[in-house]
Amino acid sequence: MHASRRFLVVSLLGLLLAGCYEVPVTGRKAMNLVDDKEVTKMSITMFDDMKRRHRVSRDKDRNDQLRRVGDRISKVVFWDMPDADWEFVVFDVPQINAFAMAGGKVGVFTGLFKIVKNDDQLASVIAHEIAHVTAKHVHEKLSRELAVSTVGTVGMLGGMAAGAPLLTVDALSAAYGLTTGISGFAFDRAKEKEADYVGLMYMARAGYDPRESVKVLEALELETANDPIQPGFLSTHPSHPERILQLMDAMPKALAEQEKSAVKTGPIILK
Ligand SMILES: [Zn+2]
Repeated sequence: MHASRRFLVVSLLGLLLAGCYEVPVTGRKAMNLVDDKEVTKMSITMFDDMKRRHRVSRDKDRNDQLRRVGDRISKVVFWDMPDADWEFVVFDVPQINAFAMAGGKVGVFTGLFKIVKNDDQLASVIAHEIAHVTAKHVHEKLSRELAVSTVGTVGMLGGMAAGAPLLTVDALSAAYGLTTGISGFAFDRAKEKEADYVGLMYMARAGYDPRESVKVLEALELETANDPIQPGFLSTHPSHPERILQLMDAMPKALAEQEKSAVKTGPIILK
């Protein structure tokens, strides 16, 4: 009895120590009890499934724009997502939405182009979504659920101690917000704000104008004021004004990042 209880405690401690990671840019320490490779594998399957269930847009301009912007952002996050096999897909869905998944799978709905007017603005949305991935917000959500259920369930701990946490497609799609329908992909307030901050630095490092991120939120605010049915992404818990204030706070730092990137990628003028 005592031995087995000690075994439980040791296993849990081991998991917690092994399952720690640092969020890029913010350096926040977070818990990760799920298998990264498994999450990536399942995310790719879910993305493929989405491509089957929704029409993929053939609009050349939009596809080109997404690829152009996605390519630049993906270079900036290379070390934060070394396993990514990037794929950028425009879905023919009228909703204002976008998402990114582990493994480098990014989807944008055609509705987003109602509020996104240039590359910088699209970059701010893509960078925000990719920040959710590099910060492993889905992993963290799943890990919390696993940790909570583990405390009460010895059977599950047995599974976890054997190195097999219960990671199911249902749990993963719920963590991504997919089970709430196509309007999902929203995290809690703290995670949304973290993704805003990290995304702002990413877009700036890619050389985009970070100030355009504020315009996206303003456009979204207008859109939601006109339409009582809130668009799914970018609209949850933290209000737009609250998010705009946070972005404004971080703007000097973001502009400095953009400046540095311009020095690196700008034209070399020889006299
Ligand atoms: Zn978000």
